[in-house]
Amino acid sequence: MRPSLLKPLAALALLPLLACQAPRTAPPVPAPAWTAVHPEYHANPNCIFCKIVAGVAPSRKVYEDGRVVAFWDIAPRAPIHILVIPKQHIRSLDELEQLPVETRAALLDACFKVAKQFGLVEHGFRVIANTGSDANQTVPHLHFHVVGGEKLLEDPITKPGAAK
Ligand code: AMP
Ligand code: ZN
Repeated sequence: MRPSLLKPLAALALLPLLACQAPRTAPPVPAPAWTAVHPEYHANPNCIFCKIVAGVAPSRKVYEDGRVVAFWDIAPRAPIHILVIPKQHIRSLDELEQLPVETRAALLDACFKVAKQFGLVEHGFRVIANTGSDANQTVPHLHFHVVGGEKLLEDPITKPGAAK
C-alpha cells in the first residue's frame, strides 16, 4: 500500500473510538422564547405561574407591579380568593433566601393591598403559604393565598380529601 494512503486509513480506524467517547446525554432542549421576556425572573418553562407572569397563560389579574403579580385563584374556596406571587420563580418559602429583600417586602405589601382592594381589612382575612408536601402545596411557585369575604372555616383552602 502506498504510504500516502496510510494516514487517511488510520483516521478511519479511529472513528469508532471517537464515537464511543461522544457524550451520551441529549443536548438540552432550548427554553421557550417567553422565558426570555424577563430574564431576571428566571422563569421555569414548566411552571404555570411563570407562564401567567409572562402573559402566555390566562389569569384574572387584580394587581401587578415590577416584582409581584396577584390574580384570582382558578378554584376559589372563599368569596375572595386571590393568589399573590413573586415574578421571580422560587418553588416556595423554603427558597426565600433567593429572593431580593425588596421582593419579600413587595409580597407582603401586595397581600395587604389586595385585602384593602377587596374590602377585607375591616372584617378580617387570612394569608396562607402552603410550603412543601406536608402542607399539600400543589403549585411549586411561591404563592400567598389571600382569602376572605366570609367567616372563614378553620382551614378554608384545604381541598376535600387532601388530608389523610
Ligand atoms: P397550593 O395548593 O397551596 O399550592 O395552591 C395552589 C393554588 O393554585 C390552588 O388553590 C389552585 O386552585 C390554584 N391554581 C392552580 N392553577 C391555577 C391557575 N392556572 N390560575 C389560577 N390559580 C391556579
Ligand atoms: Zn414559576
